[in-house]
Amino acid sequence: MLPKLLRTECLIGGKWVGSKSGKTFEVINPATEEVLASVPRMGHEDVQTAITAAESAYPKWKAMTAAARGNILDLWAEKMREHSEELSQLLTLEQGKVIAESRIEIEYAASFLSWFAGEGKRLYGDTIPSHRTDSRILVIKQPIGVCAGITPWNFPSAMVTRKAAPALAAGNCMILKPAETTPLSALAIATLAEEAGVPAGVFNVVTGARKDAPEIGNALTSSPIVKKISFTGSTLVGKFLVRSCADNLTKLSLELGGNAPFIVFDDADFDDALLGVQICKYRNSGQTCISANRILVHSKLHDRFVEALSNCAAKLISGLGTEDGVTQGPLIESRAMEKVERLVKDAIDKGATLVTGGKRHELGGTFYEPTVLCDVTNEMAIVHEEIFGPVAAIMRFETEDEAISIANDTPYGLAGYFYSRDVGKIFRVAEALDVGIVGVNTGLISTEIAPFGGVKESGTGREGSKYGIDDWTSIKYICLSGLEK
Ligand code: NAP
Repeated sequence: MLPKLLRTECLIGGKWVGSKSGKTFEVINPATEEVLASVPRMGHEDVQTAITAAESAYPKWKAMTAAARGNILDLWAEKMREHSEELSQLLTLEQGKVIAESRIEIEYAASFLSWFAGEGKRLYGDTIPSHRTDSRILVIKQPIGVCAGITPWNFPSAMVTRKAAPALAAGNCMILKPAETTPLSALAIATLAEEAGVPAGVFNVVTGARKDAPEIGNALTSSPIVKKISFTGSTLVGKFLVRSCADNLTKLSLELGGNAPFIVFDDADFDDALLGVQICKYRNSGQTCISANRILVHSKLHDRFVEALSNCAAKLISGLGTEDGVTQGPLIESRAMEKVERLVKDAIDKGATLVTGGKRHELGGTFYEPTVLCDVTNEMAIVHEEIFGPVAAIMRFETEDEAISIANDTPYGLAGYFYSRDVGKIFRVAEALDVGIVGVNTGLISTEIAPFGGVKESGTGREGSKYGIDDWTSIKYICLSGLEK
């Protein structure tokens, strides 16, 4: 049975509407290839309507106290928690991840609303000792105006609230464009926004098929009314948006792809590292931006680690995410499968050893066997591209310097992980890794209370934490003069 929160229209200006063209596209369950629903294929005109709605809603929303906006966000979070099971089922149906992971994602998504409901009230300004005796310097943080969020399919709920919560808490209005493959979670979250009392036009959703994405993107980047765009997705599209935002100098935040190193030093706690790498690598079937893409194991532990990880991988159970005991869902679509197959083949052709898995799963569709490869080297494409699949690519190293040098040999810089019990090494390596997020003795780092984001080609800006609201504000300096008698 389909969840009640499944909506097939978009929320624009407080109304649930189809596209102006009347066109729709199908949302497919990646585990069964069944059609779940058809939702609007929106384009330029629909986006204009959403922009106008957001622009009209902005003055009132901005004028509210942060506490009043926070109360609405708190209620929105409460509604997400109340409907957690339904939202989780919907997420698993459209994205494929196992239900236990969907439940965690829904709580993670709600946590951004709760967190930023409070952060809005702490959007402190500043006073600066003045440069003149007759004046005072004040600094205030103000909302930017009409903003847009563009989100990917791998975390279809959390990526929505990670943008909407700080945007709205700071007093902005938003137009959200979810990914083609996973629009239903965003529409369900919009339903709960409406129920929580988010006023008409403050939060709008426009959906589109993949072929509509450039048109929707262009409508947002070319509009002088849209003052900021926050994008989570591939580095390729991120770079394209940077160029498109140039004409209007639209402010842009980018949460892009990663190529996380996961380093196991010889003094690591072996069992902890083994558990950490499994969580980091196989969660969401490897389809996370902070997934361990290159697993570097010290030669002293290497053979034992490879054997232990392949035993664990072989025990993972693939299947429908809604079924008990299943730990691995499918890949999102066939082009993801083709990429994983290409990377595994290239690695084996260039000398990697296949330890377990390495082919399509007997379940068919886009299920791929949890895989372990060792003897992976820098010449292989798997080391340089995001795998985005359940494939552990293991490299061997000897020294700390060598591990850091391999880890940093990538244009990406999102997350990095390492396991060590040596306090000196912990500080040295944490500071030496060219990434925005470091997990030390853990493979799980996401939380709404810490800043998430990358360096190099993994993007700019931070989401979550006290820092995550800054990108949604502009700073105004007020010089108050004429104060002397
Ligand atoms: P993607 O292809 O870049 O798509 C992301 C979003 O951008 C989708 O909504 C997509 O719409 C839209 N889009 C595509 N072309 C566009 C255009 N020309 N103008 C405007 N929007 C456009 O990425 P994805 O495959 O969905 O997501 C996976 C990527 O996201 C990976 O690289 C992953 O590392 C990254 N990611 C990063 C983070 C982070 O926090 N750093 C978090 C999660 C994921 P369609 O779906 O309709 O094409």
